This record gives sequence, C-alpha cells and structure tokens, in this order.
Amino acid sequence: DNAQPRKPDWIRVKAPVSEGYRKTHQIMREHKLVTVCEEAGCPNAGECWSQGHATMMIMGDICTRGCTFCNIATGRPDALDLFEPGRVADAVQKLGLNHVVITSVDRDDLDDGGAEHFAQTIRAIRHRSPGTTIEILTPDFLRAKPGALEVVVAARPDVFNHNLETVPGLYPEVRPGARYFHSLRLLQRVKELDPSMFTKSGIMVGLGEDRQAVHQVMEDMRAADVDFLTIGQYLQPTPKHHAVARFVTPGEFAAYEKAAYGKGFLMVSATPLTRSSYHAGDDFARLREN
Ligand code: SF4
Ligand code: SF4
Repeated sequence: DNAQPRKPDWIRVKAPVSEGYRKTHQIMREHKLVTVCEEAGCPNAGECWSQGHATMMIMGDICTRGCTFCNIATGRPDALDLFEPGRVADAVQKLGLNHVVITSVDRDDLDDGGAEHFAQTIRAIRHRSPGTTIEILTPDFLRAKPGALEVVVAARPDVFNHNLETVPGLYPEVRPGARYFHSLRLLQRVKELDPSMFTKSGIMVGLGEDRQAVHQVMEDMRAADVDFLTIGQYLQPTPKHHAVARFVTPGEFAAYEKAAYGKGFLMVSATPLTRSSYHAGDDFARLREN
C-alpha cells in the first residue's frame, strides 16, 4: 500500500506573498531562467525568494537521468543555449546577490557532461558581479570524457557542491544511473585539484536509510575531505515518486548535526527543511568572517 505518513507540524511552509518574491519571480521570467525552487516545489521558496535567493538551473529542464525522488522531467534534453550564461549573469546582477547557487540537470548526452557550459556561467557571473561568491551544485559527470571536471574547477567557483543524496544501499532504488563511490571520488578530486576550494555535499533522510548508514556517509565524506554538509527531510513531490519512509524528528536532525561537527565538517545544516541551497549564502558569509 502507498499510504504516506502524515506531514508533522515541523514541516511548515509560508505562503509566497511578499514584494521580494514577486520581484524574484519577475527577474526569473524575464531572463527565461529555470529554477530548482519551482521545479522541485521547494517548501522554502516563500522565504528564499522574498530575499532574492533563487537557485537557477542551467542546461534546460529535461534531465537524462530519472532519480526517483526528483520532480524534473526525464528525456532528451534540448541543445545548449549559448546565451544562457549571459542571462544568468544578468539576473544575478539584478538580484544583487552576495552569494549565488547554480545547479543543472544531468547531461549524459553531452561529451563533457556540460562542464564547459558550467565554466562559462561561472565566468560570466564573475565578470558582471565580481563580489558575488559562487556556489555550484553539479551532476556527477559519470559519462563525461576525461578532463570535464577539471574544466569546471578551473573556472574557480567558491564552493563546489555535489550531493550524494542518500546512503549507498538505497542507490539502486533512489539514484539509478549514479554510483556512490564515483560521486564520492568526484568530491575528493575537486579538493585535490584545488585545495583552496570549499567542497560540499548533502543527503536527504526519511527514504528508508538507517542511522548507522548516515554516520557512515558522513565518515566517507570526511575521508574525501568534504567541508560542508546538508541533511534535510525528503518530501515526496508527487504520489508517483519514491515514498517517504518516515519523518525524521527535529531531535534526530540535531543529533546528526552534532555528530557531523564532531567528525570535522566546517559547516553543517541538518534540519527538516534544510535543502542544499537553503541559507547557503548566510552560512558561507558567517564562515568567512570567522
Ligand atoms: Fe530555492 Fe534552495 Fe531556497 Fe529551496 S532552499 S527555495 S531550492 S534556494
Ligand atoms: Fe533530478 Fe538531478 Fe537526478 Fe536529474 S540527475 S533526475 S535533475 S536529481
């Protein structure tokens, strides 16, 4: 049976009504940009967008993978839009962001997995908004030709984020087409290529993983020198997606956060509504002040 556990009160969502929200929405539409906030139906959109924090998704809205937690359409993506990096840079400037998060669909159809497009987007933002810190949340480049990752790292984003999404035991049902150890190695490679770059990763919980496996993932990330960690509650985007196994309690999240700091992460966000990009800018600014 497909009965889902009831949403507890700690998963609360504010209605998106502010002036700031409308302005962000307008800038996204004017620049024909896709956002993961909308695609994923993120519960934080009301809060984030009111401050101009939208996570832009480049390289289209059709993905070559079909992760069972994800609401992005699977299929054959369109050709790359060569003007997109410029539009993203323009939007970032108009939003006046101190920190921006750029993500993308997976592009197994491209030789370089979209690495050069990522690099161009980073360079375009840097050129227009030199004071803005840039965080990228990338696909795994599993089927890209050698050297693809190097192209992205050479464009020098401030934070390189790649999510492991779940524990290795759930990969076949949650992230088919991906490989846990490949993703881990990718994070480690980034640090080897540029030790000054911050690396970041995250998982969702409530998919059926056990606590021990979550602790193991944290250990694996630290062994790969990952600096920042996010852990959030998985929410089912539609009834066709992977079921929510359970709602992890705020107390359990707090315990994960404490354990993660104990393992040496520089920055940890572990709450029910934590998303990869949630408060990313504030957290990063705080870290740089210290
Ligand atoms: Fe968008 Fe991330 Fe905020 Fe969600 S948490 S609304 S995805 S910026
Ligand atoms: Fe969604 Fe990313 Fe998986 Fe594509 S690779 S289906 S965008 S989570």
